[in-house]
Amino acid sequence: MPEGDTVWNTARVLERALAGARLTGSDFRVPRLATTDLTGWSVRESASRGKHLLLRLEAPADGSRWTLHSHLRMDGAWRAYAPGERWAARPAHLIRVVLRAPTATAVGYHLHEVALVPTVEEARLVGHLGPDLLSDDWDPAEAVRRLSARPDTAIGPALLDQRNLAGVGNLYKSEVLFLRGIDPRTPVRDVPDLRGMVALARELLAANRGRWIQSTTGSLRRGQTSYVYGRRAQPCRRCGTAVRKEELGERVTYWCPTCQPGTPA
Ligand SMILES: [Zn+2]
Repeated sequence: MPEGDTVWNTARVLERALAGARLTGSDFRVPRLATTDLTGWSVRESASRGKHLLLRLEAPADGSRWTLHSHLRMDGAWRAYAPGERWAARPAHLIRVVLRAPTATAVGYHLHEVALVPTVEEARLVGHLGPDLLSDDWDPAEAVRRLSARPDTAIGPALLDQRNLAGVGNLYKSEVLFLRGIDPRTPVRDVPDLRGMVALARELLAANRGRWIQSTTGSLRRGQTSYVYGRRAQPCRRCGTAVRKEELGERVTYWCPTCQPGTPA
């Protein structure tokens, strides 16, 4: 599931494959960019902002700076292939973008929100985001301020709202709330120590940078990587109670009703 750490890793894949290179070809299989040709463009850098990918480019004609934006949502991915390597990661009909460089080809599968915008206008795409959990300028106080601004929202959906803090998806939401002992339906105003909660979210995401297995338990063994996420009806690792799964604010969430007791009505 692409959450902030996966997107961060993906940005590094693109950085290693393309940064500093002059593109030798491109192929956009999205209607809006179907006629775009980035041949001759230089790749300056690859960055992530929350769950958004930003590939920064320079146009050969006038040196203008552009950003190729993409979003992985639930199922997108970028892969880098060596020259001559078979593009085997996903079925070809899912390919949305191909960027060819002399030493690598980057292929984007099932990408969403693919857009090419002047870099100075990046804010139109990512300016609404709260502090980025994996960015060097991560600002926990600002994340807490934004969460606290809507005190009646349940903490589960509030953690997913990228305007509050950027990078948390269903996995980390479920796991952070379990580790803090908080029922996901608890209103933000009743959650003790929001600062500690966002600090833990950052710690969990940061621990998974540089690898594709997402673990919040410290174990990388199959079936051992989460406390509650993906474990409906299985016994809680702490207390043995059956883990619950329910829709909450249109997204599923997992929790242990014993370790995460609800606030009494
Ligand atoms: Zn439990």
